Amino acid sequence: MSLTVVGSLAYDAVKTPFGERERMLGGAATHFALAASFFDEVRPVGPVGDDFDEASFATLRTRGTVTDDVEVVAGGKTFFWKGVYSSNLNERETLVTDLNVFESFSPKLSQASQDADVLFLANIQPDLQLDVRQQCTKARFVAMDSMNLWIDIANESLKKVIGTVDCLILNDEELEQLTEKPTLQQAAHEILSWGPKAVVAKLGKYGAALFTADDFFALPAYPLAEVIDPTGAGDTFAGGFVGYVAAHPEEEIDHQLLSRAMAYGTALASYNVEEFGTERVERLTADEVQARVADLQRMTAFTVDPVALRA
Ligand code: AMP
Repeated sequence: MSLTVVGSLAYDAVKTPFGERERMLGGAATHFALAASFFDEVRPVGPVGDDFDEASFATLRTRGTVTDDVEVVAGGKTFFWKGVYSSNLNERETLVTDLNVFESFSPKLSQASQDADVLFLANIQPDLQLDVRQQCTKARFVAMDSMNLWIDIANESLKKVIGTVDCLILNDEELEQLTEKPTLQQAAHEILSWGPKAVVAKLGKYGAALFTADDFFALPAYPLAEVIDPTGAGDTFAGGFVGYVAAHPEEEIDHQLLSRAMAYGTALASYNVEEFGTERVERLTADEVQARVADLQRMTAFTVDPVALRA
């Protein structure tokens, strides 16, 4: 079994009401890999500049992640993103997106990455996602993420790649923007008509919702008194969600399996936001993940005895 991911490998500058970091390891593929590595051997695909230091490689290799397909571009600069969060962390503004080495990146996957059982197309320019999708012909489950920037500037390419995946994971507002539908229900079902069998709407601090053709499931976010930095929460969720699928190679990928996967995505994402960037998930233990999944089940369990109602 193995899990390939393409997406940004980055340095981030982030400011939240609780502090800031000038330059920390980030990127959608990085956050995804850190979470998914709890479930399977992960192979990130993407370029970095020669400013990508050994400490960053060491973090990326947490829990056995294989970095053979991380291409170091001599003289190049690593993707850089800068964002600032509003006082209640509900909104964030992107101040800088420097694609740098991603601008001229042409993915050439090793055989091991091409043979992946499960593929995640993390957030990056959709043509790159499609290129990687087409190289991974054996994947039994392919999921993807994106963001408003690509909806705005690469809409056609984005729709094309969505048509080739099994599951789209996107923020609720982005789903509505992409489909031009007024409700999440309509937006999700519009996406289902484009090809994917499942849509996960990320609802930020409210949790996540799963839509399949005839079913629906939702989980609230794990209740936290303090959130320090939400950067990468979506990718960490995806790492737990997709990783859980990867860890069940013999099971049919149906609504039931994906619902259980949501619990792992939710638990992992809750740890990610407790500290800046990758800081918390780097030292997270399997026991801590299991504890929060167990907590989530207890907190959300609803067993209702039928009661006779009056007319
Ligand atoms: P999230 O908070 O889940 O949306 O992910 C945040 C991560 O996405 C950061 O670590 C950034 O490096 C990365 N990121 C921000 N903008 C982009 C973009 N346009 N393409 C790819 N990755 C991005």
